[in-house]
Amino acid sequence: MSFFANVEQVPGDPILGLTEAYNADPRPTKVNLGVGIYYDEDGRIPLLRAVHLIEQQLAAEAKPRGYLPIDGLPAYTQATQKLVFGEGSELIAAGRVATSQTIGGSGALRVGADLLHKLLPHATVAISNPSWENHRAVFGAAGFDIVDYTYFDNASHGLDFAGMVADLQKLQPGTVVLLHACCHNPTGADLSTEQWKQVAALLKDRQLFPFIDMAYQGFDKGIEQDGQAVRIIAEAGIDSFIVANSYSKSFSLYGERVGALSVVGPDATSTKAVQSQVKRIIRTIYSSPSTHGAALVAGVLGSAELRGMWGAELTEMRERIHALRAGMVQKLAALGAPEFGFIQQQAGMFSYSGLSKAQVDRLRDEYGIYAVGTGRICVAALSQKNLDYVAKAVYEVSR
Ligand code: PMP
Repeated sequence: MSFFANVEQVPGDPILGLTEAYNADPRPTKVNLGVGIYYDEDGRIPLLRAVHLIEQQLAAEAKPRGYLPIDGLPAYTQATQKLVFGEGSELIAAGRVATSQTIGGSGALRVGADLLHKLLPHATVAISNPSWENHRAVFGAAGFDIVDYTYFDNASHGLDFAGMVADLQKLQPGTVVLLHACCHNPTGADLSTEQWKQVAALLKDRQLFPFIDMAYQGFDKGIEQDGQAVRIIAEAGIDSFIVANSYSKSFSLYGERVGALSVVGPDATSTKAVQSQVKRIIRTIYSSPSTHGAALVAGVLGSAELRGMWGAELTEMRERIHALRAGMVQKLAALGAPEFGFIQQQAGMFSYSGLSKAQVDRLRDEYGIYAVGTGRICVAALSQKNLDYVAKAVYEVSR
């Protein structure tokens, strides 16, 4: 008898498969818009100057590598709280936030999902339609039943707010609602301040549990503005919620796996109890997180000089994305396709371009331009060098 002889092969990640196909493509003009990574003008993942400097400093200090506490490096989790909840947050002052360093934003989602499944075993989770594919997988793996809520309007290429509100209103009290704080992946359609206030009031009124995923803070309007969902939900008087955040994009530290899970409770005592549950979950999965990436982020955020430098670099990344969006819209309009103006309204790295599967296939076959079958393109993988080529190709396949 062989234990592994009849194991079913499950399909691989479609987006990673796209990169494999791109790598194998010999055409020099090829462009990979399928990824979820910010590339600079030269098509490279940037190593931020602030990160490089702190890394050199840490290397010179040559510190030993003991274990971190289960919930991570205190300087990292404290700096994270300030970034996510705001410097003067009353929640932090009241001891109502407990933050754990996690293995990327993905780790925060999974630990948070495991926590909620333990504390609210009968809850379902509501996820936007569409959403980052891994949301469904992570919450499903944690044992949740999953429902969709309306999010995107294919006709306007923007948020279907009325549809979203109508669906949220139908949810059972106690349902966990997964919300993208900003730069919605995959659509690029975000809520306005006013819309967040309405959603926060609805969540409170209907006794729904907010689980905020913030993977792109600083990639649209800036740290403060992009974090508004967290503050609005707190201000609505919702006493318990969760935030998962990631530094993969904002620090360009993808492979260091730097994320955090923050739980908010009604008072300091309950928050401590919830955090004890979080720590038990972490302990039984990977015991404690790793040191290096957290030390980099804590080092940058803890130094006024490096923090200023990082802020400027983040601004540079976000402004480059805005310029690429504007350039794409302008070039398409000049070619005779003004209907793509919505690309400039969308936020963050991604755009739901409205291209069909057949059009995406043509982009790949005829032009060596790789996009996700849903029409999602990564704007941050464009550059001023390939913009003309991509705009022309999009124009041709959309005629
Ligand atoms: N949430 C969303 C919406 C994301 O797009 C991503 C990254 N693609 C994550 C979470 C996970 O981030 P990380 O890479 O830090 O695990």
